[in-house]
Order: sequence, then C-alpha cells, then structure tokens
Amino acid sequence: MSLKKKIISEMTREERLFFSLCNECLNEPYKNWGIAESELRRALTESGLTETDDRLHEMFEALDQNKNKILPYEKFAEIIRKSGLLGEKALRGELAIPDFRDFSEKVDEIFELVEKNTSGDLATYIPPLANVNPEQFGVAIITIDGQVYQRGNAEVDFSFQSMCKPFNYCLAIEELGYEQVHSHVGQEPSGRFFDDHTLLTIEDGDTNNQSASTTRVPYNPMINAGAIMVAGLIKDKLTNHDRLNYVREQLGRMIGHTNNPACKIDTPRFNREMARQENYKGYNNLALGYLLMATGHLPHEDGQLPNESKRKKEDDNFEFYIEPAVVKALQIYFSICSIEMRATDVAMAATTLANGGVCPVTQDRVLSQETVRCCLPIIQMCGMYNGSGHFFQSIGLPAKSGVGGGIFLVAPQLMGICIFSPRLDHQGNSVRGIEMAKRLTSAYRLHLFDGVMTDTTRIDPRLPLARWRAASCSEAIWAASTGNIRTLQRLVSEQINLEMGDYDIRTPLHLASAEGHTHVVKFLLDHGVKPIPDRWGGYPISDAKNGNHQEIIDIFNNLDITYTESIHISLDPDGKSDKTVKIDDELSVIELLWAASENNIHGIRQLIARGIPVHASDYDHRTALHLAAAEGQLDAVQYLVNHGHPIDVRDRWNATPLDEAIREKRTSVANYLTELASRK
Ligand code: GLU
Repeated sequence: MSLKKKIISEMTREERLFFSLCNECLNEPYKNWGIAESELRRALTESGLTETDDRLHEMFEALDQNKNKILPYEKFAEIIRKSGLLGEKALRGELAIPDFRDFSEKVDEIFELVEKNTSGDLATYIPPLANVNPEQFGVAIITIDGQVYQRGNAEVDFSFQSMCKPFNYCLAIEELGYEQVHSHVGQEPSGRFFDDHTLLTIEDGDTNNQSASTTRVPYNPMINAGAIMVAGLIKDKLTNHDRLNYVREQLGRMIGHTNNPACKIDTPRFNREMARQENYKGYNNLALGYLLMATGHLPHEDGQLPNESKRKKEDDNFEFYIEPAVVKALQIYFSICSIEMRATDVAMAATTLANGGVCPVTQDRVLSQETVRCCLPIIQMCGMYNGSGHFFQSIGLPAKSGVGGGIFLVAPQLMGICIFSPRLDHQGNSVRGIEMAKRLTSAYRLHLFDGVMTDTTRIDPRLPLARWRAASCSEAIWAASTGNIRTLQRLVSEQINLEMGDYDIRTPLHLASAEGHTHVVKFLLDHGVKPIPDRWGGYPISDAKNGNHQEIIDIFNNLDITYTESIHISLDPDGKSDKTVKIDDELSVIELLWAASENNIHGIRQLIARGIPVHASDYDHRTALHLAAAEGQLDAVQYLVNHGHPIDVRDRWNATPLDEAIREKRTSVANYLTELASRK
C-alpha cells in the first residue's frame, strides 16, 4: 500500500486513522511513516479511555510490548484492532464525549472553584460520620463508553447511606416486579421530610370489585419509610448476612466487578461499626419499622409469643416481645446504608443506570431497561430530600444524595457523575456536590429539558467542541450566503442568534451582502439583526461594495451607523492560486476551520480520520490554513501542511495564509510559511 499516493477519500478507515495520527508524513517517504507508541497511547488516554479498562487490556499490552517504538502502518493496525472498535471510535471522536480532554479541563476548572466552598456541616448523629475529614472532595464522571474523569478524593471510600435507596429499589423490582413492589410502597413525592412518619393512602385490591378498600404505604422508596420497606423486600427468605452479600454482589456488578481474577474492581465494603451506630441511634427508623409493620405490608411470618412457662408466678412483669420482622428489615436497611464505595465506583453505578442497566466496562446487564426507567423518575422527583423539586428544575438530572456527603447524578445515555464532599447543607445535601452539579449544568447542555432551549452559550458535550461551535453559527451563515430565506425563517422561530459570527466574525448579514441577496439583507434587518464588523474591521456594507450590490449599499447607507472599512492585504494579488475543495458537508468544513483556529489538533485529526479533506474551503474560500495562520497557531499550521494542505490558497479577498499571518503579526507562522514557499 502506498498511502502517499492515495487521496483521503480513497483510503480505508484504518488508513485514514493512521494518516491522521502521523506527523511529518508528507516530508518523509512512505516507508518511514509511523506513529510513536507514546503518541498513540496519549491520543487514546486523552480520549478518556483508561489503561485499567478490561476491554482494552490486550491493546495496552501490545503497546507495552512496543514501548518507545515508532509504529508503522501494519503494526498500528494490528494494535488498534485489539480493542474491537473502541480504539478506533476514540480516535475518530465517536465516544460519548468526543472532546474528552477539553471536557476534563473545564471540569478541572469547575472543581477548583467549588473546592473553595467550605460552608456546610458534617452529619453528626453518629460518630463514624461526625469524624470524617470535612475537607475531602472527590469527583468522578464516567461515560457510557467508559471514558473516566477523576479528580481529588475520588478513590476514597465513603459511606453510601441514602444513595443505596435507588439501587435497593431496582433490585426489588428485578426480583419481584413493579406491581408487587408497588403494593408495598408508593411512587409519589411526599412533600415531607425524609424521615417523616406520614403514609400514603392507596386503593387496595381489585378496584372493580365492591370489596375494594384502602391501605397505607410509604409515599416512595426514597424516603426512609419507603426505603426500609423496600430493603425489607429484597431476598427476604435469606438470612441478613446472605442478603447483604447479595446486594454487595449486585452493586459490584454495577461498578464493574467480575469474577475474573485480573479484575481490579472489588465488591463494595461493609462498615460494621457504621451499621451498629445507625442501629444504636436510629430511634426514628426503629419507629418507622413498627409503623410499617402496622400497615401489614412489611414481609413477616406470624411471630411466636415468647414462652412464659418458665417464669415465676410472682414475677408480675412479662417478657417483652420485639417483632423479628422489624428487626430484620432495619438490620438489612442499616447494613446497606453502611456500605462504602469510592466516588469512582458510585459514578460507575450511576453510569450503569445511564446506560439502561448495562455496566459500560463489562457489558454485564445487571438491571433490565424497564427497571431503570422505573427508577430514574423516582429519583428525579424525590432523590434530593426536600430540595428535590428545586434541584430538578435548576439542574434537570435525576440525582440521589446521602448524608455521607455523596451525590450521584444520571445523564441518561451519556454519563454518570458522583461528587463526594461531606459538608452538608440544611437539607442534608453535600454543599460542594450541589454547587458542582449547578456549575456543570450551567457550562454544559445536560438538563433533561435543554432540548427546548436554543441557547448557544452552553456546550453540548455530546459533540466535538468544534462541531458544537460550527453548529451554533454555520446554518444561518450558509443559508444567508445562498439566499435561503426559508431556513432563516425557521431559525428565527427557533430563536437562533442571527448576529452570531464565525471564526472570522463573519455573520449572515456579511454573507448575504457579499452574495447580493437583497431580500435576505432586508429580512435580517427587519428581524433586528445589527451590522457588526468582521475580523478585518469590515461591515457588511464593505461586502456589498466589493460585489457592486448597489441596492444593498443604499440600504446600509440609510441606517444611522458609522462604518469602518475592512483592511485586507495580499502581497501578490495576481499570484497563482492553489486548489481548494468545496464539499457538501458544510458543517464539517466549518468544524475544521474552527478546530484550526483554536489549534485543536485533536479535532483536526478526528475530521481527517472521518475523511474530510484538509483543504476544504468555506463561503469566503477560507481554509483551515488561513485560520490557523491568522490565529498564529503554529502546531495546526504544521500539521495541516504535513497532511497535504496546499499553501497558496486564496480567500475571497485574494489573501493567502502567509498574508494572514503577516497582517496579524504572527511571526513564527509567517517565518515558517515563508521558508516553505521559498522551498517550493
Ligand atoms: N442511615 C441514614 C438514616 O436512615 C440514611 C440517611 C441518609 O443518607 O439520608 O437515617
């Protein structure tokens, strides 16, 4: 195979991938092309995949065997195939969060801001919680493709507490079915404190039948009454020792534990002392246990009155009976609350929920999709104690917290998040946990109802960053440049900002003016769009003048605005122009140019791996090299040139990338391009 002779559209997927990762490929004869092992490893780990991921064991082992070597094409292909499709997807930017490095950097920034918040207090009702180090702060985020972000104390075990409630509920449904579970517990928000004793009255029995009556059950499985009831339902024929082990095993499966001896993930630990203390101080829960017994819905066998025969007649006291079913339910409830996990484990369990019940790194289906769909609405309504409604309205993700300082959030089909920091607010939620969740959802489009918003300030993590930027401006600009008024009408009704410019601050009004679409110019002005200057200081009127579109010039002259003229330079206006390509996939072109302007090599690589030619040009005939040069991004400039980008490409104003570098005083890029031109 000679990659050098091939054009990108003729390459196979693997060849493109290899080509996108090679450096200096065009300066070298093909037999010298290669990728450094460390580069490949870095590209893979930056995509969020980890060396501890069981699915990637063989691939990383092969990389280890080739440590510090340069990998030629055949070796590269052999190694990457060992990951199934995962490695390829990572390099092509097709994992759940395509720009994971950028995402991680932003989450790091948020983490550092939130870390400063030291308000709130520890839970003090029992010593094992009162004595934890209040400064601890850990965050873990895991996507449904197994990309992992970890920061701070993400590897410290902490008390699961009420975060166990959704999982208990899922296990009960798996075992007994939805109907059966909900004859013991409701699914309504209680509007009361989590440890309140009020019960919900529901219809009991066949409602079509005269004999239908009412009965009382806890409001939902997230308040204590409901949680004790649900814990009491799980494997109720087994001993509590076996039941606890069963729950730990199921949680273990959700966090990626397997029976494979090489598996690095353990089943979660149990803190016996925590459970003892919960029992000792859990007066309210003990009271709830009896209340549940009184409803008749707590699993029990008919108890035996203790035998009084051995007692002396004159002893006027009696042997106090304690209902074993109450003890059994509370003991298992306290035990499960006293399980300990790391934020990373809890995030993985949350991701199993986000992934419809399948653990992302083992592909083990632990819960059915139906079970998960029953559970998520309940945690969305009732997961955050008395702050649940407000939390869901502002953050918009199902979440559950516990007094151990943990909060987990589920972004369905995307990721699970766990934040651990033990200082709590007055509602019992981790202060930093809430702040972190708020900041994450103000930076990213994660709220379940963000679909109704066309706000372009929040990043969509599901898209490569450059595509997200491209998506927020390109449709309107392309529509304006082709005179497509229907699309613009739709964008207006979608409340898209039509003043938004691209990487050159070119706006729909510039392009409509440049192409002489008078009706579009009128339409935009009628809709309140204001003319703004582009990268070169030029208002849309300059474009109209360039194209001699008199009607448009008149329109702008009638507005009460002082315009500046654009300043373009072209050292050799009559110079011969190298060819660029126009491709139908307009969005990808804009994506490529954004990536180049931001020195986002990772993004450029992903596009090349997807088959986009490096020298694709936009509505102003601008190419990636123009943008990288104008912004002084030497790495991107070199990468593009090495991947076959011609250098004498000319934009609408006849400027080459070198002209752009000179105009913007990007000395190192200008020197590099001058030197290249002299070699030509
Ligand atoms: N074990 C605690 C209780 O039932 C759980 C508290 C919580 O995390 O909400 O009181």
